Amino acid sequence: MTDHSTTTIPRHAQNVGVKLDNRGRVAVDDHFRSNVPSIYAIGDCIPGPMLAHKAEEDGIAAVEIIAGTAVPSTLQP
Ligand SMILES: Cc1cc2nc3c(=O)[nH]c(=O)nc-3n(C[C@H](O)[C@H](O)[C@H](O)COP(=O)(O)OP(=O)(O)OC[C@H]3O[C@@H](n4cnc5c(N)ncnc54)[C@H](O)[C@@H]3O)c2cc1C
Repeated sequence: MTDHSTTTIPRHAQNVGVKLDNRGRVAVDDHFRSNVPSIYAIGDCIPGPMLAHKAEEDGIAAVEIIAGTAVPSTLQP
């Protein structure tokens, strides 16, 4: 059986060198970057509320950061 629950994602990431925090979540900086430069993480597998809208906002923000189109929070209304 393939286990695709969110909690398995950090363990798979760990296999490629991604560091986890003390609760088994992917450790990211405030730009959703893990310690592996090409790997970002969002949603339930990083610290924070495990809620759908939070995961969605994380995803949008991470993509904007990766694309270089993120608006600095100091300029947001
Ligand atoms: C029963 C239940 C009720 C909920 N009710 C609410 C609610 O009312 N309101 C709310 O805001 N939140 C609710 N949530 C929480 C919400 O569903 C999650 O916070 C949200 O889905 C997290 O999004 P995510 O993208 O991080 O993870 P997910 O939505 O879990 O997406 C992860 C995806 O990665 C895939 N995946 C996993 N491992 C692998 C792998 N190795 N290879 C490829 N793909 C993989 C999975 O199949 C899945 O599609 C509920 C959760 C549950 C379980």
